[in-house]
Amino acid sequence: MRIVLFGPPGAGKGTQAQRLVARHGILHVSTGHMLRAAVRSESALGEKVKTVMESGRLVPDELIGEVVADRLSQEDASDGFLLDGFPRTARQVAILDDVLERLGVRLDRVVLLDVPETVVVERLAGRARDGDRGEKRADDTVEIIRERLKIYREQTEPVAAIYRERGLLARIDGTGSINDVSDRVESLLAGAGS
Ligand code: AMP
Repeated sequence: MRIVLFGPPGAGKGTQAQRLVARHGILHVSTGHMLRAAVRSESALGEKVKTVMESGRLVPDELIGEVVADRLSQEDASDGFLLDGFPRTARQVAILDDVLERLGVRLDRVVLLDVPETVVVERLAGRARDGDRGEKRADDTVEIIRERLKIYREQTEPVAAIYRERGLLARIDGTGSINDVSDRVESLLAGAGS
């Protein structure tokens, strides 16, 4: 199964992604996670993206495209994967199209976790206070949360329209308990791919 998990910051993508990959035995490809690891390890990639990430803006499309192309080309991605946090712009959709074509595979579903902005702001403010399950994030402050939501509306929401036109988008109500949301996701996926 090859899926994209999509939604605003704070929609619960990370939590749902972990459950999905465990249940379906597919690779979890989280661009945010990979970039934070690069920053922590002070690699060349980390040096390039650190300031942009801390500001809440997006790193350049071609740069993140290379990271994803490289990851999806590895052996452990051949049985399926879940993309979490990518694609985030129309350009990244085109980059992903090229990568998938080269690999000779297709997406089964794009799952949009739909959560109203008021709920998202509350959740992110909580994460800023408490840390995100031990992964302290430099981009969880109130001003940067606002910036990330603005960028989501302007640059990432159009991605949903592209996949809707292709008939791949499924919108899931992302409010309620973690279990409720994962039940909704699983019943949706029961009909998709293998
Ligand atoms: P996330 O954990 O997915 O919210 O990502 C954290 C930060 O990493 C974002 O605010 C961006 O700065 C950067 N990032 C992650 N994924 C992407 C992407 N697909 N395109 C551009 N920047 C990204």
